[in-house]
Amino acid sequence: MAGHRERGGLDKHQYTRQSNKDSILMDGVIYEARQRMEFERYEGICKRCGECCGSADGDPCANLRLDLATGKYYCSTYDSRLGPQKTVSGAVFTCVPIRGIIRQGLLRPDCAYNKTGG
Ligand code: SF4
Repeated sequence: MAGHRERGGLDKHQYTRQSNKDSILMDGVIYEARQRMEFERYEGICKRCGECCGSADGDPCANLRLDLATGKYYCSTYDSRLGPQKTVSGAVFTCVPIRGIIRQGLLRPDCAYNKTGG
């Protein structure tokens, strides 16, 4: 059966299984890369005005920060922001993904996502 062990010591069935595993792994790598690119594209739409987090209403989220170098806002707990949060004055609210706000048609008038349709 020497003819079946022609690719790196694998017979054709082992080679096919290994090839399928490699293909699945590559699909996963490509999928993750695309997800990352889509996330960055989507995040890049935001102009960091902070209005959705209360930058203009006098009682912003306590996690909202202003980057003095750029004049743009950012969340100090972005990766764990979703769920119950407090404003500077202590009022409790629930932080939700911007996609949920888009779906409900509740974007601020000047929000950059208005121009993209989400
Ligand atoms: S209101 Fe819109 S553009 Fe402004 S920070 Fe929030 S998501 Fe970004």
